[in-house]
Amino acid sequence: MSEQSLEVLSRVFGYDAFRGPQQRVVDHVVAGGDALVLMPTGGGKSLCYQVPALLREGVGVVVSPLIALMQDQVDALTALGVRAGFLNSSQDPDERRAVEQAFLAEELDLIYVAPESLGGGESRTARLLERGRIALFAIDEAHCVAQWGHDFRPDYLALSMLHEKWPDVPRIALTATATPRTHAEISTRLQLDDALHVVAGFDRPNIQYRIAPKNEPRKQLLDLLRTEHPGDAGVVYCLSRASVETTADFLVKNGIPALAYHAGMDQRTRAANQSRFLREDGLVMVATIAFGMGIDKPDVRFVAHLDLPKSVEGYYQETGRAGRDGLPSTAWLAYGLADVVQQRKMIDGSDGDAAHRRVLTGQLDAMLALCETVDCRRVRLLAHFGQESTPCGNCDTCLVPPETWDGTIPAQKLLSTVLRLQRERGQSFGAGQSIDILLGKRTEKVTQHGHDQLSTFGIGSDLTEQQWRGVVRQLLAQGLLAVQGEYGTLALNEASGPVLRRERDVPMRREPERVARGRTQRAAKAAVDLAPAAAPAFERLRAWRAATAKEQGVPAYVVFHDATLRQIATEEPADVAALGTINGVGAAKLERYGEGVLAALAG
Ligand code: ADP
Ligand code: ZN
Repeated sequence: MSEQSLEVLSRVFGYDAFRGPQQRVVDHVVAGGDALVLMPTGGGKSLCYQVPALLREGVGVVVSPLIALMQDQVDALTALGVRAGFLNSSQDPDERRAVEQAFLAEELDLIYVAPESLGGGESRTARLLERGRIALFAIDEAHCVAQWGHDFRPDYLALSMLHEKWPDVPRIALTATATPRTHAEISTRLQLDDALHVVAGFDRPNIQYRIAPKNEPRKQLLDLLRTEHPGDAGVVYCLSRASVETTADFLVKNGIPALAYHAGMDQRTRAANQSRFLREDGLVMVATIAFGMGIDKPDVRFVAHLDLPKSVEGYYQETGRAGRDGLPSTAWLAYGLADVVQQRKMIDGSDGDAAHRRVLTGQLDAMLALCETVDCRRVRLLAHFGQESTPCGNCDTCLVPPETWDGTIPAQKLLSTVLRLQRERGQSFGAGQSIDILLGKRTEKVTQHGHDQLSTFGIGSDLTEQQWRGVVRQLLAQGLLAVQGEYGTLALNEASGPVLRRERDVPMRREPERVARGRTQRAAKAAVDLAPAAAPAFERLRAWRAATAKEQGVPAYVVFHDATLRQIATEEPADVAALGTINGVGAAKLERYGEGVLAALAG
């Protein structure tokens, strides 16, 4: 059986070995077993059901919530010579009938359907499935069944009926969400307790994690794009629709080809922008987190966050969209005092019960701990998913270890200013006012309230305003200070007392100046290095790919991935046979593109 699956892997997909747990899953499903696969983005989940679908009798049914991407998925499979189709609401009746016919005649290897179209078993699609022969069910983005998760979709709950209706058809559920809680919920809801459970390593060694203090975020972003990622495709996440628009405009004005994406835009523009991002090389998508689930563009070279994600899970998912192809990529986040104030405020103001607010607070605290850590970011990140690791050498804290300093005295000064405002004046203010008081600034707002009479006035001139903002941010992050009310003013909490009474120390993180661009050994290993001599050939191949993709109306990566083009440019295969040995060149692509590639390579 292993031989058969390896034969399909090599002939159809052009790869010569399975990765990680793929083989185990494939063999299990081919033999008719159920599986639950938790694997990071880019880990290679698709092959886990595509190969078994090709080996088993009948058609593989893929349940996917990502209707907008079904066409691309089918195109990518068609380019490999796999017979695939989809059924969804965007189709016209003729198209739909053709796919239905092909399904019944078993002229398809894979068919993609939306979860809602199964409609608990009574819909047209469900009746169609009953009349055909099914090789397996693949339930993609299976975390959508988790009610506590951020992508919950009620339609997924009904998928438990697959098991009842087709007890003999193997099911494989897949997700990139790794928390034990989600894992357990998928298993129960989809009745997969007896299935093969595979939890792959969640490390993404080719992603370099960096979290920078936020000063002038747009300028910092522009600097990152210009110096480290010129011409690269990437995603920039912003919290609000307004900042998506202004950031996209800012980038365009500065010569960066950027597009916007958020839920407030009209459907057509949004879809058009998404499709351009997938199809064209080197575009930057500025988006809210509405953008991204299932975007399987392999060559996203960076993911930048201009605002703080609400949870480590969210951060991991969003940054995980970078570097699916295994080549070095950057995850960059700018984070500052205002982020902490805003998010604490949002949680306080959110409706819902106290228990829910506690969950949100816990999630934010974990995210803040990741931002403020002086240890390896990756070790922290993986620990969040229950995985142990050693310092990675490919994150900002490993590359330029931040110093810690004893912030106890400044913490006391700040807290006692807040205390005095609260106690002596019965007032509360935002961080700016306390900082002005400490710095001894006689601003209008300071003199007007007589705050220059407070005993803490001017006792903080040993630090700069920037440093004070860092102190407030870290106190908030460490939970030693609270924010309250609709203006997010500062207030003491139970944890502030021990600091004021000198019963505890407050270690703080000193921001390193700037992280030098570091390509580490670990990241480089994952990549096929491109020697300078191979660069012109790589560019010729890219140009050929762009033209070919355009002609065929498919995304460039459907033709070949960057990693494949790099290897071709480096190894310079002399003929079609040699080209066929390159990773990612299967039989169908060799036949279709072989001559074209060799011509482009020859120049
Ligand atoms: P996921 O769905 O888990 O995010 P994909 O299935 O899209 O990941 O695979 C990520 C990338 O890795 C794709 O470009 C895919 O072609 C490639 N890939 C997957 N398995 C292998 C393998 N065994 N050998 C080489 N490349 C692989
Ligand atoms: Zn590290």
